[in-house]
Amino acid sequence: MTKTNEIISGFERYVIANYTRQPVVIVRGEGSRVWDADGRSYLDLFPGWGVSGIGYSHPRVVEAVCTQARRLMHMPNNFFNELQGKLAQAIVERAFPSQCFFCNSGAEAIEAALKVARLVGQPHGRTEFITMTGSFHGRTFGAMSATAQGKYSAPFAPVVPGFHYVPFGDADAAEAAMSDRVCAVLVEPIQGEGGVKVAPPEYFERLRTLCDESGALLIFDEVQTGCGRLGHWFGYQYVNVEPDVITLAKALGDGFPIGALVVGREYAQALRPGTHASTYGGSPLACAAALAVFEVIEGDGLLDNVRRMGEHLRRRLGGLVEEFSFVTEARGAGLMQGIELSVPGVEIVTGCLERGLIINCTGGTVVRFLPAYTITAEELDEGLDVLRGVLAEVGA
Ligand code: PLP
Repeated sequence: MTKTNEIISGFERYVIANYTRQPVVIVRGEGSRVWDADGRSYLDLFPGWGVSGIGYSHPRVVEAVCTQARRLMHMPNNFFNELQGKLAQAIVERAFPSQCFFCNSGAEAIEAALKVARLVGQPHGRTEFITMTGSFHGRTFGAMSATAQGKYSAPFAPVVPGFHYVPFGDADAAEAAMSDRVCAVLVEPIQGEGGVKVAPPEYFERLRTLCDESGALLIFDEVQTGCGRLGHWFGYQYVNVEPDVITLAKALGDGFPIGALVVGREYAQALRPGTHASTYGGSPLACAAALAVFEVIEGDGLLDNVRRMGEHLRRRLGGLVEEFSFVTEARGAGLMQGIELSVPGVEIVTGCLERGLIINCTGGTVVRFLPAYTITAEELDEGLDVLRGVLAEVGA
């Protein structure tokens, strides 16, 4: 029995089977590579589903976590916390005039954003939300209700009332759904789980105008696009439209769980003592990790690398569109890209895994990539060559 099989058989007995898991046990990671329990290595172009932004177990993050763990891991939020203040400063100085609230995940950041919007809107009779079809905002009840994909919420009906779903990219539809009962419009700068769907800057400009004219908040869910993913600190800077609120998680902690809500100064005061809280949110340990992430992104010039490697990835994916008739489109930005297929993508992802390459398929036909910001052209080429070989076999 291999070590892998041994671990899986014990695991399946005791862990609830609510995930579709690959029959692989990853035990170690470094940069864009991981190793399984039997010593096999993989190149990961989808590290941690966008979490391991600066690569697996980045030494600077490891050092910051170890040092802080020895000093102080947790302090409740009824005391001040120096690192939380420093992290908020690091975020705000790179974003718009704002203040931060910290939590532990993307869904929690969304819940906090929905609560801020209700706190701001409710006194004026505004309690409803507009969100986009194909969106993904998380699995908690509010975030799931905001997520306009029935497959995630149908088994749990009824969802939280007050959400209007309109097609992503269709500003006319958003305008038609707007009313004086809407407290916020929630949108991803690029839809991730929805299939790496992009919309032009004019779309976001129109949403901005719509919110300004109606008095609703514009919330960008930057759980996937934030913290450097699109070659800017935040995705709103890529689409060049400033929202009132952004949500962050994933790459913020490079694997250490942390989420953040960033709220424009005029609305941040809505969150008062008693309105919202999180026991673990913004712990010294989580903030030490996230501060190290910011230092590495800045100090190592990683935003530049994201842009350069993003162009390289785009060229290679464009080449696949030209070469294979069943690869119909390449899209995305920075290091958040994907290809649309006219055949199922799951077998392709499985074929790549068997050859030591980790990528992902969403929506059945979109193969997607969220490489680490530290990725090199050689690593991208290595992975794309493997993918090309698998696509050639499918097409043969
Ligand atoms: N929002 C977006 C855009 C996401 O991509 C995700 C997760 O993939 C979430 C929210 C939920 O984040 P979490 O799984 O950390 O709750």
